[in-house]
Amino acid sequence: MSPTRLTGTAHFDPELVRRYDRPGPRYTSYPTAPHFRTDFDEASYRRALLESNGSGRPLSLYVHIPFCEHLCFYCACTKVLTRHHEWGTDYVRRLEREMALVRRSLEDRPVVQLHFGGGTPTFLEAADLTRLMAAIRRHFTLLADDEGEYGIEIDPRTVEPEGLALLRSLGFNRLSLGVQDFDPEVQQAVHRIQPPELVATLLTRARSLGFRSLSLDLIYGLPRQTPESFARTLATAVALRPDRMALFNYAHLPELFPAQRRLSTAELPSPETKLEILSTSIAALEEAGYVHIGMDHFAHPTDDLVRAQATGTLHRNFQGYTTHGEADLVGFGMSAIGSVGNVYSQNRKDLEAWNAALDAGKLPVERGLRLDAEDKLRRHIITRLICDFRLDTEALARLSGIDFEEHFADCRPALETLRADGLIEWNGPILRVTDRGRFLVRHVCMVFDAYLVEKRARYSRVI
Ligand code: SF4
Repeated sequence: MSPTRLTGTAHFDPELVRRYDRPGPRYTSYPTAPHFRTDFDEASYRRALLESNGSGRPLSLYVHIPFCEHLCFYCACTKVLTRHHEWGTDYVRRLEREMALVRRSLEDRPVVQLHFGGGTPTFLEAADLTRLMAAIRRHFTLLADDEGEYGIEIDPRTVEPEGLALLRSLGFNRLSLGVQDFDPEVQQAVHRIQPPELVATLLTRARSLGFRSLSLDLIYGLPRQTPESFARTLATAVALRPDRMALFNYAHLPELFPAQRRLSTAELPSPETKLEILSTSIAALEEAGYVHIGMDHFAHPTDDLVRAQATGTLHRNFQGYTTHGEADLVGFGMSAIGSVGNVYSQNRKDLEAWNAALDAGKLPVERGLRLDAEDKLRRHIITRLICDFRLDTEALARLSGIDFEEHFADCRPALETLRADGLIEWNGPILRVTDRGRFLVRHVCMVFDAYLVEKRARYSRVI
């Protein structure tokens, strides 16, 4: 498939975006996690692991560390609030057990990617982090420092500059820093105070230690944000010269995420204000030399993500956009999701239940899904649309043996509406998301989502 080069700034049409401002999945997987089945169990996961052996696919490991000392009021993550750092010691002990149990069914393969997410991975004490990395190296084969992509999410409030030296010595070469917003008013409203100087000091130290990719996460749509205040946040972020930035949309779903009930709804920016913030932010980041990747990532032109987008090899997984779509993703820790071959598997989301399963010598599987041929076909379509903003229907037909027009005849009316609204172009075999439709690409994907019945309330709004 020839690549789509995305060079223009996304176009915004406020009236159109308002009309499409409906909840929809973020498509970090297809089918999405709410459709995983509870009759998928440990035996199902073991079978998937065994089947993946001999595939030649490398491994990508995700380790979820759920603990946080403080509650951010916008939080939608699976976490455990505690100041008892000794809980981390028990948790690491069980992670070791989980790795040993997984390795009984999974052959050794090179680990091209490792990611520690949370919660707050840096909640772990130095000794626990050291023990955990030693366990990973005992059970898996990590690559040389210049080959593997080994990242960890950092809460700047929890790491001293010297703590970074430990992370580097353990083998991490990428850092992702949760910033969200530098404005003191916004930080107060969301209960996350971290001065820009803290972030600047960490980045300077990280560079001197040779971390090769530094990424900042920002969120728009938080209480008390204005276009002016967020422009200042963005200017501060750009001045720090991170290699990547993610600009996430805050999804206010207080009925699903209790922490969000502590935010003042009256202080949330209106959809119009969010749109203005987004629009000016994208322009400012492109002006600063960043390339817009997928829906919400930005990277320097030399970054791997930019190359992957240009060559049609960009992928999306539970951590966002990635260059390692070919790898089997194996998740460890409470609530972690893996994607092995054509199977998704999610661990128990409750700490007690995750502990109990491992203490009983069982893999802590809660639910999962084995994709059938139709799921795989639609996953391919949704992945290419959300990564490349383009679908070659002829190539797809050759790959899958279907007649695209006939197979997706029921999608035609919705696609025609998207075309009439200028969100897609469809000339011959190529279906292309326009610059105008880029921000609404989730709606284009939703046309091909066979599971999307009327359960949309559980998904975040597109704006
Ligand atoms: S946003 Fe992150 S750091 Fe804050 S409470 Fe949630 S998981 Fe913890």
